[in-house]
Amino acid sequence: MTALTIRQIKQQSQQWVNASINSAIPPFWLTDWLLYVIHKPSIFLMTNDDYQLTEAEYQQFSAGVTKMQQGIPLAYLTGKQEFWSLDFKVNEHTLIPRPDTEILVEQVLNWINEQEKSRSITKQEDAVTSKRLLDLGTGSGCIAISLAHELTQGSTGNTKANVAKNSWQVVAVDVSVKALEVARHNTTVNNITNIEFIQSSWYSELSTDCERLFDVIVSNPPYIDEADEHLARLIAEPISALSAPNQGLADIEHIVQQAPRYLRVGGLLAIEHGFDQGAAVRQLFLDNGFNAVHTVQDFGGNDRVTLGQI
Ligand code: GLN
Repeated sequence: MTALTIRQIKQQSQQWVNASINSAIPPFWLTDWLLYVIHKPSIFLMTNDDYQLTEAEYQQFSAGVTKMQQGIPLAYLTGKQEFWSLDFKVNEHTLIPRPDTEILVEQVLNWINEQEKSRSITKQEDAVTSKRLLDLGTGSGCIAISLAHELTQGSTGNTKANVAKNSWQVVAVDVSVKALEVARHNTTVNNITNIEFIQSSWYSELSTDCERLFDVIVSNPPYIDEADEHLARLIAEPISALSAPNQGLADIEHIVQQAPRYLRVGGLLAIEHGFDQGAAVRQLFLDNGFNAVHTVQDFGGNDRVTLGQI
């Protein structure tokens, strides 16, 4: 196999994009993969058309293109995905963080911010009140880590929401030991120190003792309908993180029904769901005693996150 130049790769890329078994590969995947393989910044692709890949680089690049054509996402080839301006390791045991899930993080931070403003508690009381947040089905840990980063690490240049710093404890659970390994790793690399990880099937290993209750429960559970044709294209990620019975609502229903037992009075439940599940999820919240129930849309204008207070 003769290693190609960047110019030749550019010329062939459309062909590779289209030669996928599923839908076409996003073209930026090829570019990002090439940059990853040759360890260069993106400007290099504009200024160095004549650069010829080494044999080893070209072999790695081609093998990756073949995998993408077979439906393996870029993030599993590079082993990482950015979320909330932080870096996350991902592998086949975890869902790849989606940009739309940042809306869930943002909504939770906005709610906490509003609560802290409206309670108008003194700074002294603030410091001694320990708040607790639970992330159900944490996967790579991206939600729990982003929230812990904002709630406990002090203000950084990246801070996207201005939340009063409080004494927050974050608990993150997942049923998968392999996913928890990834989440723990991501906690360390992002310098987060205050997340407690528990292997648990949703609430199964959590206590309902009043001092262990939560102010916030957040979750991005599996919600794709088992019959959804979109699922056929998601062949690489764990099915247990993607799809649920009962038109995709089975896990959401369990989480909503049980949440009142684990929330403090006035606590928030925030759940990501499918674009066509807004009405059903709001009804579940209402049936289980939540108020101020509302749905927020994603970047594409689809219903994506429902929130309610108990
Ligand atoms: N939003 C993702 C998708 O449709 C799925 C995430 C999930 O099931 N929680 O690809």
